[in-house]
Amino acid sequence: MGAGSILTGIAASPGIAVGRVWTVDRRRVKTPRREIAPGEVEPELTRLRLALALSDRQLAAVRAKVEKLEGTEHTAIIDMHRMMLKDELLVLEAERLVRDERVNAEWAVKRAIRKIKGAFDDVADPYFKERRADVEYVGERLIRNLMGEAPDVEEVPPEGAIVVARDLSPADTALLLHERKVAAFVTDLGTQTSHTAIVARALGVPAVVGVARATSAAERGDWVVVDGGRGVVVLRPEAGERAGYQAARERYLAHERELLSTRDLPATTLDGVTVRLVGNIEFAEEVESLLDHGGEGVGLYRTEFLYMGRADLPGEEELFRDYRRILEALAPRPVTIRTFDLGADKLPAGIRAHAENPALGLRALRYCLRQPDLFRTQLRGLLRAAPHGNLRIMFPMVSGVAELRAARRALAEVADELRREGTPVELPPVGIMVELPSAALIADRLAKECDFFSIGTNDLIQYTLAIDRQNKDVAYLYRPMHLAVLRTLALICDAGRRAGIPVSMCGEMAGEPLYALVLLGLGLSELSMNGPSIPLVKEVLRAARASDGRALLDRLLELTADDEIDRALREEMAARFPGLLEIDSAPGPVTG
Ligand code: PEP
Ligand code: MG
Repeated sequence: MGAGSILTGIAASPGIAVGRVWTVDRRRVKTPRREIAPGEVEPELTRLRLALALSDRQLAAVRAKVEKLEGTEHTAIIDMHRMMLKDELLVLEAERLVRDERVNAEWAVKRAIRKIKGAFDDVADPYFKERRADVEYVGERLIRNLMGEAPDVEEVPPEGAIVVARDLSPADTALLLHERKVAAFVTDLGTQTSHTAIVARALGVPAVVGVARATSAAERGDWVVVDGGRGVVVLRPEAGERAGYQAARERYLAHERELLSTRDLPATTLDGVTVRLVGNIEFAEEVESLLDHGGEGVGLYRTEFLYMGRADLPGEEELFRDYRRILEALAPRPVTIRTFDLGADKLPAGIRAHAENPALGLRALRYCLRQPDLFRTQLRGLLRAAPHGNLRIMFPMVSGVAELRAARRALAEVADELRREGTPVELPPVGIMVELPSAALIADRLAKECDFFSIGTNDLIQYTLAIDRQNKDVAYLYRPMHLAVLRTLALICDAGRRAGIPVSMCGEMAGEPLYALVLLGLGLSELSMNGPSIPLVKEVLRAARASDGRALLDRLLELTADDEIDRALREEMAARFPGLLEIDSAPGPVTG
């Protein structure tokens, strides 16, 4: 039996690593608090300014190192932190506290940071928790500098070490990965959408985050196994267990190599149907990994992520540059950019909102139509970037034709405005996310007024089955194989086919190999998923026949109960693609 203790967390980046623990001390600083005399105000303000400048220089140095090692792909987050150092909400508020309340600079910074973070407090979305963490990193760096402590990861872990930390700032992560060739990460805090997770995924380094007690349980030098695909950390494994995992790692790497060997092959079925496999991204940094995994474009760029976690809103110029960068990196491949899915649970810092039922509230397109300036800024950025690649614009959460028409009108107005200013504009294809039952039911009418559909199953399932996608208590009811969901999907695909417009799917369901044959049967022309999911879905499609997919779909639609449908699907997939259902989950803990 293995004697190692097993910790579980969030599977943030797949892969298996076996190595020695390297703890990184990122404990919170204890901020001193002191009242200052009137004569101390000016010196204290000077100290604050010097610390701001020093923090900026440190971040600039980290950025330069990262850029030298691998270009500008991973520097945007560091830029964002440097911008926060100049933010009025931070700087002016801290100065005000020193001046008016006569507190020391450290305490003033802590209070100003707390106020900015307060804007996120009502928000349960894990992404927001992470952006709150960004504000904290910046504040912590400033406070450490004021106290004369070194804020960065100073000691150098040996190559191949496994870093165990309470939390890591993006600057830490970038340095550890690029300069110090760390084998894996484990953090107490963090979520799937934390920067550590995103950067680790982008660079193919295994990571488990949100482990809660990793730092208290692990000692520097301990053996540790990280299974990033399953979110499992085995501390102090026995020699036999270690060897077992080492072998599992070899198998995993061999399988990855095999999968990646199909990178340049199309996802064409045995009977000649080709499905375009594209990626879902939240940041420009993910493009490289997407291409490495064989992504043929972007099917969903969730643009609201650029807006979140910062006190200032990005202006047209910044949006334009971001969109242009992604379009250029992928040209001539298609890039579907979704307009902001902001509102309710996804709000920029500084905008506080409370809604009883946020998922049913003022969000996405509704929010944009209510905030015409914000929408206009984004549409201008998009239309200006359009000539730099193969852009498609997509509106989220469309509930009916009135909203679609209003959105198209806003786009046409922006196009006219740009033309009047002398910027030539050609309108790109415009599509909608079909993610509300109402849109699905009138898909035939919507199809006449747009150029493509993309099915957002994450929300479509939530709204069809009335299951809050954030609520763990009802997660067991979240069933893609519910007959109501299957029928809805068939309805949307039929409407698209009749109108002659392409239908894509960009919800999580699209990246699940288990559903690939059913999705093929539905006649989807494009599947959009996280980059690392592409090779496996491609493997299934290349070994499948579209005719078998249609037959399977017909058979499932004859059944009734969701578990019955689910079982029939699993049985057929297991029979057709033996081994497929285990491929996803890496090997279990090996008993020595
Ligand atoms: C969806 O709803 O399926 C979708 C892809 O969008 P998001 O997950 O951003 O809501
Ligand atoms: Mg959605």
